[in-house]
Amino acid sequence: MMLVPALAPTARAAAPLSINIESHQVINDLSRATGIKPAHELTLSVANIGHWDDATLVAALRTAADILAQCRIRIAHAELLRVAVAPKHRDFDTPRSRELARALALPKPTLYFAAGTRQVPAFDAEAIGRGNSRTRPELRDTVWIARGARDPGLVVAHELAHVLMDSGEHDRTPGNLMAEATSPHHTQLTAGQCARISATGVRNGLLQPSVD
Ligand SMILES: [Zn+2]
Repeated sequence: MMLVPALAPTARAAAPLSINIESHQVINDLSRATGIKPAHELTLSVANIGHWDDATLVAALRTAADILAQCRIRIAHAELLRVAVAPKHRDFDTPRSRELARALALPKPTLYFAAGTRQVPAFDAEAIGRGNSRTRPELRDTVWIARGARDPGLVVAHELAHVLMDSGEHDRTPGNLMAEATSPHHTQLTAGQCARISATGVRNGLLQPSVD
């Protein structure tokens, strides 16, 4: 019989998180010219960790930019990273997603295009603002979208609005973007919602006043 010294749990080194940035591109002018002068600019960090198709992802960002334009917000540019990570880090899963967000340390707000979710209940997408990130600060001002989410552009706009307003509230006004269920018919934001998005977004450093 051989005696093996027991390892204290703290002595067991965590496996290093392997991250490989496969590509990096900057997409400028996601917002179309509308003839209305934008009041605020938004710069997005976008991490494709779930093998999303680039065209689907960029189309979703453009749709979200079109929707946010009604609040005079322009998505000035998005930094898009394609990130290769181990399968267990490709889904939204609070402890693992915290590790990933801490390691990547991307500017906020950050959109993670994930493979799926391991959260219970399982939502297609989740937004983490200030109010729901106290125990998981790495996830503050991030959005996680599972591949296969229906209407990903609307989902991006809806979740970004949650982050910018720092609110999980929904709105039952017909056609409102902040309806509980996203739909192509739910695209409108009220003047009050736009005001809150702008004020809170600026206060939290997520929106910059437009310079031109
Ligand atoms: Zn929502």
